Amino acid sequence: MVEVNKLNKSFGDLHVLKDIDLTVKESDVVCLIGASGSGKSTLLRCLNFLEMKDSGSIKIESEEIDQHTHDLNAVRQKVGMVFQHFHLFPHKTVLENVMEAPLHVKKQPKVQVKKEAQELLKKVGLSDKENVYPSKLSGGQKQRVAIARALAMKPDIMLFDEPTSALDPELVGEVLTTMKELAEEGMTMVVVTHEMGFAKEVADWAVYMHDGRIVEVGHPDELFTAPKEERTKNFLDSVL
Ligand code: ATP
Ligand code: MG
Repeated sequence: MVEVNKLNKSFGDLHVLKDIDLTVKESDVVCLIGASGSGKSTLLRCLNFLEMKDSGSIKIESEEIDQHTHDLNAVRQKVGMVFQHFHLFPHKTVLENVMEAPLHVKKQPKVQVKKEAQELLKKVGLSDKENVYPSKLSGGQKQRVAIARALAMKPDIMLFDEPTSALDPELVGEVLTTMKELAEEGMTMVVVTHEMGFAKEVADWAVYMHDGRIVEVGHPDELFTAPKEERTKNFLDSVL
């Protein structure tokens, strides 16, 4: 569970996140939508402490995280993140990519790490690619490796920042299928996406952001078909 209260973040004079309140309960899937520049990535990055908030509070698993006193690397282990551009290690094989963090960050025994990595690769349908380097993979395959790699740290929550935006259209489905399976297993997820079909099918909540604020939260069926706020409606008209 993640609880955000009155979160504010500026870059210099630019006030990017304004009094963000957001609660994500265990096993919830939340889709975050909004125009370019509305602050979606910054919000995810604050939840993973890749960016430091200016004010407000962030609780993860009921514990308020103080960015000055907490071991943020330990916190980040609980919060998996998948980016638009995969960020795999190019000089490591698929299996080594998935094994890297549990082996070198968590310092778990290699035999166990390898077994779990192989299970994760099976889960994302890439058992046959274990010994291949990322450059030999399609975008969809790379993103599934990135998902397996994030899962290898056994996070409590997974954050996805436009995980399918860099993919050729025919490769989007396989990544969304993997994410859907993860959601069905009960993973807590926050997903920034333009895939409204996925949001409708999988998300428990849709959150619309505009200019650094959360303007509207609702079940996807309601928010997409009968938005209460004019700004949400205008945005949906522009993308649907
Ligand atoms: P997109 O849909 O294009 O990914 P977004 O909703 O994810 O947009 P953010 O990336 O969170 O938007 O950016 C919000 C605002 O903050 C933008 O105006 C952006 O230029 C600015 N911004 C983001 N990161 C930084 C940074 N490191 N330094 C300065 N400004 C930044
Ligand atoms: Mg973004």
